[in-house]
Amino acid sequence: MERNIERIAIIGAMDEEVVALRDGLTELEEHPTPFTDLPVFTGKLDGVEVVIARCGIGKVNAALATQYLIDQFSLKAIINSGVAGGISPEVKIGQLVIGHSSLQHDFDVSHFDYPQGTIPRLETSIFKGDPNLVELAFEAGENKVGAENIHRGLIVSGDQFVSSVEQKQSILAAFPTATCVEMEGAAIAHVAWLNQIPHVIVRAISDQADNTAPDDFDAYLLEVIPTLNGVIRALVRSAHQNAN
Ligand code: SAH
Repeated sequence: MERNIERIAIIGAMDEEVVALRDGLTELEEHPTPFTDLPVFTGKLDGVEVVIARCGIGKVNAALATQYLIDQFSLKAIINSGVAGGISPEVKIGQLVIGHSSLQHDFDVSHFDYPQGTIPRLETSIFKGDPNLVELAFEAGENKVGAENIHRGLIVSGDQFVSSVEQKQSILAAFPTATCVEMEGAAIAHVAWLNQIPHVIVRAISDQADNTAPDDFDAYLLEVIPTLNGVIRALVRSAHQNAN
């Protein structure tokens, strides 16, 4: 356990989403974890103390990694960085989405009259991004890609790769304001909320969650990540300055 240094955590699901950030660290150190597959690194990103974890795909991996980082380090903020499928027709491949809030679209207790996405007996099922981090992320993104290529809105997460027009339409029917869909963000947000740690989700669009999503994902994954990483680095710098 390391409690003496305050850090910003950056969590990404896949190697592709974190390696370049990790390689940008000075004073890089790998921290062994008790888990089979959870690489964790500390160091300075542009002079700011961070911890980076590659959590794996899906909500369970994301939740576990988030709680582990909270338990092991002294976190002042949590950033989830990665790719996502555009759900709103306005959200296009290559654009960015900042989550002002997130929810788990596959949480379904509708048999007991709970609206889809509701977690029964929990105070909220919609987890708000920290307003300050959302603003800083939006500014960082706007500077990189221009206002016309960045969105701020609801991000929906579930343990499904959404890759058909039917799946996408049924998510949109339940959550008409959803901007994009991915598989980790709301789980990270949920754990951050339970621990009262500010968080923000920043996603680059790799596909449009439709029938060509698997091919688009493969084609655009590596293409969109450098811009995303640039935004994450700018966000880390401004979040750090803002806190000091
Ligand atoms: N092709 C990958 C699997 C990717 S799963 C492999 O071979 O391992 C998709 C990942 O990208 C998840 O981490 C998720 O958060 C994000 N993502 C991008 N587009 C998505 C979509 N259309 N639906 C759900 N998640 C998506």
